[in-house]
Amino acid sequence: MNGITIALSKGRIFEETLPLLAAAGIVPTENPESSRKLIIETNRPDVRVVIVRASDVPTYVQYGAADLGIAGKDVLLEHGGQGLYQPLDLKIAACRMCVAVPVGFDYAAAVRSGARLRVATKYIHTAREHFAAKSVHVDLIKLYGSMELAPLVGLADAIVDLVSSGSTLKANNLLAVEEIMKISSRLIVNQAAQKMKREVIQPLLDAFAGAIQ
Ligand code: ATP
Ligand code: MG
Repeated sequence: MNGITIALSKGRIFEETLPLLAAAGIVPTENPESSRKLIIETNRPDVRVVIVRASDVPTYVQYGAADLGIAGKDVLLEHGGQGLYQPLDLKIAACRMCVAVPVGFDYAAAVRSGARLRVATKYIHTAREHFAAKSVHVDLIKLYGSMELAPLVGLADAIVDLVSSGSTLKANNLLAVEEIMKISSRLIVNQAAQKMKREVIQPLLDAFAGAIQ
């Protein structure tokens, strides 16, 4: 195929990518929220979008099933980034990866005392590195969603999760006590495609770069 395939996830990434695509003259013909289609054509016959789970975007691009993709830094750190170029921080889907605990839990004191902490998270790699760098002993518990519940029912002392407004934490009587890193979404490119399809991909990269807020 001479055209290119772009892997996106539904929801905030798709929505926040639309203006970037528009800057490159690309307009999807359907909205994945309503159409349920997984392959979406665009106004350009040589460009199509595939809709995958956010955490699967790097995998599709790594193996060349998609030439380009957009994925959060959180997802890329867990994936590892093998086979991918990450040429642009698109500054979309911005949030922070944080350690959060129940209101009233003295996290700083627990850390000082050298206590072993149980931490529930979807981000095992990032959490492991963070606590190892601080020499905090942790038992990590892998979850796939709704991390906020874990400390409320005694599954964990703390969570590592993404925070934007903090309203989900607040609604569950949790507090962010440490920022691990700032997160935003990156453009990722299959390394072979970047070389083989440079004449299609490079103008797209340039348009995206010009449209970053
Ligand atoms: P799923 O919802 O299918 O379990 P997901 O949570 O990874 O998967 P999204 O909620 O669409 O998928 O999140 C996609 C990306 O957007 C995340 O990888 C992250 O980089 C970013 N993100 C997640 N939550 C927020 C948030 N509250 N505010 C801003 N950006 C966020
Ligand atoms: Mg989500």
